Amino acid sequence: MPPELTAVLALCRNLPSPPGIALRIIELAQDPETDITTAADVIAIDMALSARMLRIANSPLYASRRRIENLGQALTMLGLNATISLALGFTVTQNLSAPGQDQDARARAWRRSILSALAASLLGQARGLRKAEELMLAGLLQDIGVLVLAQSEPERYLPLLRQAGDNDQLLALEREQLDCTHAEVGAWMAEQWDLPRYLVEAIAHSEAPATPEDTFQACVALSGAVADIWLSADADAAREHALQRVHETLNLDSAQFDQVLARIGEALPEISALFETTLISPSRVQQLIDHAQELATLRNLREMQDAALARQRADEFEARANRLAEQAHRDALTGVLNRRQLEAVLEQEFLRATRHGWPLSVAFIDLDDFKKINDAHGHLLGDQVLRAFAGKLQEHLRNSDTVARFGGEEFIALLPNTTEPVALEVVRRVLASIVNTPMAEVDSGPLFVTFSAGVATQGGYERFADVQDLLKAADDVLYRSKNLGRNRVIARSPTTTPA
Ligand code: GH3
Ligand code: MG
Ligand code: MG
Repeated sequence: MPPELTAVLALCRNLPSPPGIALRIIELAQDPETDITTAADVIAIDMALSARMLRIANSPLYASRRRIENLGQALTMLGLNATISLALGFTVTQNLSAPGQDQDARARAWRRSILSALAASLLGQARGLRKAEELMLAGLLQDIGVLVLAQSEPERYLPLLRQAGDNDQLLALEREQLDCTHAEVGAWMAEQWDLPRYLVEAIAHSEAPATPEDTFQACVALSGAVADIWLSADADAAREHALQRVHETLNLDSAQFDQVLARIGEALPEISALFETTLISPSRVQQLIDHAQELATLRNLREMQDAALARQRADEFEARANRLAEQAHRDALTGVLNRRQLEAVLEQEFLRATRHGWPLSVAFIDLDDFKKINDAHGHLLGDQVLRAFAGKLQEHLRNSDTVARFGGEEFIALLPNTTEPVALEVVRRVLASIVNTPMAEVDSGPLFVTFSAGVATQGGYERFADVQDLLKAADDVLYRSKNLGRNRVIARSPTTTPA
């Protein structure tokens, strides 16, 4: 491509849309029930908007690791509100407030692109190609070079557009006066815009003779010839010409070909509506834009509300999950830690104590003559006593201490960073308080309990190999305190055990 041309084209950003598109976009924006599929249907027939959406979806701003290959993916990623806002911004301001004087010259390119989009996807379908959306996009964008040239070089290019009777003449004029074709320009632009590779290739080869090797490419290249049936002065000749090429390259027979034409024919009224120039007063345009913008703001608010609601739900879900996890850690009857969780905490504290050289004391606590309570007052009352006892035990210890039910009427108190003499004193104080605290009400009056406990300490005068050894040591001392007559707390070390 001539360098002076690329310098001008590099600045090209806003391409115009057919006049009808802007109105459709406004309708979309004003309809609270609009969805992404409806928006895609409108955008998919406008090469300017399609290219733009694709370019934005693939821009580093969105930083999607996935390459966006077609319009459906692009719009899904942008979301409905962004799609509509972007479409409004591009089309409405430039098409309705300032209708281009040269729209007629561009109309041919717009029409050809829509017809080509349909033709490319229908030809692909007839050949069993499963790339309908990509074919449609490639067909649509193959002539984007025309819009780019008309926008960037209007003085040189618009006269060529008006002068050319058909696409072949246009190509000849382009080669003669610009030293390049709109296919080259379109492909170059698509590359600058970082559109998917397959689109760049399809645009670049769109005016080259189609070859059967690459069916996708062939469908795009032939789509223009099919579109020309409706644009050419001699429709019959154009049809013969297209049929011959389609037959040679894609091996479709004339019945299949006619089917493609019939399907395109069905869409014609809708396409024509896009080019009916509707006269709208500037003040009406402003009203429409205002209204559409208001709706966009409302949609934004709703999206934000939805996001807030989703966040709230996620928080609730997390809290629930935490509660459940917490429950799984607790003993169902008493609410203190269960044995499994005790083992986890114990391992952790044991490691920490060993690593830092801190003392870790363990008290093995067993209610005295608990069986008698069950026997005298029933199992349910026994449960009530266990609950009350566990609660009191926890109340008397620090938050950093851990209370767990080891099983039955046996509990463990874990006192991190506590020496044996201190632990002994703490548990004795607990015992002194417990014996004076009624644990239940029975016929004869308040019911009191006592307990026996054994204290062992890691990192005091001895070091245990593991948690099990430490627990066993505490259990041994508990056994001793039972034997000595119950209702007492004894430590393992003889020096801390008072006479
Ligand atoms: P000792 O002073 O020697 O510890 O006597 P004890 O009766 O407390 O000890 P023993 O091990 O003989 O009996 C413990 C009793 O605790 C037996 C069992 O039925 C009762 N027990 C264990 N778990 C529960 C429970 O969840 N609820 C009730 N109500 N009783 C329980
Ligand atoms: Mg017991
Ligand atoms: Mg007991």
